[in-house]
Amino acid sequence: RSLLITIDGPAGAGKTTVSRALAKRLSYTYVDTGALYRGIALAARDAGIDPDEETNLENLFKTIALTCTKTPAGPRLSLNGVDISDKIRTPEIAMAASHISAKPVVRRYLLTLQRRLGKDKGVIFEGRDMGTVVFPDADVKFFLVADLKTRAARRFVELGHKTEALSLERVKKEMKIRDENDSTRSIAPLKAAQDAVVIDSTALDVHEVVELMISHIRH
Ligand code: C5P
Repeated sequence: RSLLITIDGPAGAGKTTVSRALAKRLSYTYVDTGALYRGIALAARDAGIDPDEETNLENLFKTIALTCTKTPAGPRLSLNGVDISDKIRTPEIAMAASHISAKPVVRRYLLTLQRRLGKDKGVIFEGRDMGTVVFPDADVKFFLVADLKTRAARRFVELGHKTEALSLERVKKEMKIRDENDSTRSIAPLKAAQDAVVIDSTALDVHEVVELMISHIRH
C-alpha cells in the first residue's frame, strides 16, 4: 500500500536525512519543501527585489519556473532550468527563506505546487506545515524534534566544510532565530499536527528513528 507520509519539525532535527533513509527503505520518493522556500529566496535575491513588497513577489512568480524533480538520489530543484540544489544550502539563504516564508503570497504559490507533487502516493513530504496545512489528510504524520544543541551541532557538521567563517555559535544562534520566526508567524506556523507522532531524535541515530517510524507506519 502506497502512502503519503509527512515529516515536520524545526531546523536541524534530521528531517532530510531521515526522509532520505525512509524513502529508500520503503522505495518511496521524497520532497524537501524547505528547498522550495530557499529557491524562492534565491530567486528574489537574484532578481534584486524587496521581498517585503507583496506585488514584487507576485510579479516574480509570473516570471520564474521552479521545478522539483524526484530522482533516485533524492529531489533536485531547478530555477528557470538551472539546478540550484546545492546553491541554496547557505546560512544566508536559510535566513532569507525563513523571512520570505511568512508571506501569504509565497505560501499560496507553494501550496499549489506542493499539492500537485502530492498527487502520486508513495511519497514523503518534509517541511514545517506538511501535516497541518498542505496535507491535513496525510496517511501518517511525524513531528521530529531534537534539542537545540544537538540540532546545531548536526547542521554545523553538514555546513562546516563548505564555509570557513562559520562557527557553531553562529549556526546555533541563527537556528534559534529561524525556529522563533517559523513558530510565531501568523500563517502556517511550525507546530505538530494533532494526529502527528512526535519523535525526539536527540539521543537516536538515523537508523533508530527510521525503525521507529516503520513501526508506526505498519501499525
Ligand atoms: O527546511 P529548511 O531549513 O530548508 O527550510 C528553510 C525555511 O523554509 C524554514 O526556516 C522555514 O521558514 C521555511 N519553510 C516553511 N515551510 C515548509 C518548509 C520550509 O515555512 N514547509
